[in-house]
Amino acid sequence: MTTVPDIESVGVVGGSLGGLFQAVALTELGLDVTVWERSSGRPDDRGAGIVLQPSVAWFLNMFCGVDPDRISVPVTHRQFFSQDGRSHHTLMRQQMISWGALYTSLRDRLDPARYHDGQQVTALASRHDGVDVHLGDTVHSVDLAVIADGSASRHRGLVAPDSAPRYAGYVAYRGVIAEADLTEDLSAVFRDRFSFYDGDRTQFLCYFIPGDFGTTAPGERRMNWVWYVRADAAGLDRITTDRNGTAHGLSLPPGLIAPRVHDELLDRTRRLLPEPMRELVEHTREPFTQAILDGRVTRMRNDRMLLTGDAAFVVRPHTAASAEKAAADAITLFTALQQVPSLDGALRAWEKNRLAEGMALYQHGVGLGHRLGLGGPATPAAAAGPTG
Ligand SMILES: Cc1cc2nc3c(=O)[nH]c(=O)nc-3n(C[C@H](O)[C@H](O)[C@H](O)COP(=O)(O)OP(=O)(O)OC[C@H]3O[C@@H](n4cnc5c(N)ncnc54)[C@H](O)[C@@H]3O)c2cc1C
Repeated sequence: MTTVPDIESVGVVGGSLGGLFQAVALTELGLDVTVWERSSGRPDDRGAGIVLQPSVAWFLNMFCGVDPDRISVPVTHRQFFSQDGRSHHTLMRQQMISWGALYTSLRDRLDPARYHDGQQVTALASRHDGVDVHLGDTVHSVDLAVIADGSASRHRGLVAPDSAPRYAGYVAYRGVIAEADLTEDLSAVFRDRFSFYDGDRTQFLCYFIPGDFGTTAPGERRMNWVWYVRADAAGLDRITTDRNGTAHGLSLPPGLIAPRVHDELLDRTRRLLPEPMRELVEHTREPFTQAILDGRVTRMRNDRMLLTGDAAFVVRPHTAASAEKAAADAITLFTALQQVPSLDGALRAWEKNRLAEGMALYQHGVGLGHRLGLGGPATPAAAAGPTG
């Protein structure tokens, strides 16, 4: 039996991490939750590595029955390289998880009958006491709709018009390598460490994450690296146009990098990176790319429609808090619906909290990017890049 006033059914638009956090938490409240996800089958392990933050760890423990220690790789130190390969380190304990292990833990918690993949939500329409969710010619009526359709959100404008994210002027090249494919010497350099190289208007970082199926046994893990590199709008276009000439817009999946772009990456690697990091990039068969975006909203609620995850704020990855923010969106909604006696009061309290936290994180991320020399707030000119 539901404990929430006025609502029994919830529709979630988008079944990635943001949608799954909400779906799992709202199911825990006893609500009748349905998720619609545009893509079919299990998505790629798109995010590769994620720093495990407190809300995600709490969510896994409390709502998924998963011990985060079981699916994460611990690091004990931060290690800082200079270009000549020398390094120093400081004590800082953290845990690293993979996008795939997190996604699987959330999906496993949800009744498969509640998750409809290959189903694109084409429109949402408010009505007196709920929302109509349109999937082509089919309409589902729900009491509350949670919009979790990501940074390129099609439905954001129903809650926060004119809030599309902007390109921040740099990209993340990324790579994942099986630990077994690294030499023992190279592996030892990075073991138990979160490693950084801060260069001139560039940053490289790397850490071990769980292997396939979430395994954390030494030798079966994967090395995850990220390299932030500045690129103007035309450069972004070139980097995310694949080997067949198809433009992908804001990200390029593994296996598609154009040979010319890959050669340039390797050339830049040899010129700029410290030795052990250079080896990582050279060992990577299928680097992939993601544009860095700035996105903020001034509203996260329009009556019974809510924005969550990257559909609301898109924060820079230096905060290591995108997944954390999505988990906190869900935990805060759970708590508000449970504790505030009226639906309107609960949703107002939720929006106030999430707007404040989202804006603080957004500004923190822009500040970090600026300090790294990568770029301050995105400008309209920088936004001229592809948006697909
Ligand atoms: C390529 C990539 C790499 C990332 N790497 C990291 C990382 O390393 N560390 C980290 O902390 N965070 C990372 N993030 C961010 C992190 O994954 C997200 O911030 C967090 O998971 C919340 O995302 P989301 O679910 O709100 O949006 P998304 O992950 O973008 O998911 C949106 C989902 O909505 C679906 N969708 C879109 N439109 C519709 C529609 N009309 N109908 C139905 N479904 C729809 C999409 O198919 C997609 O599955 C990454 C994100 C991306 C896109």
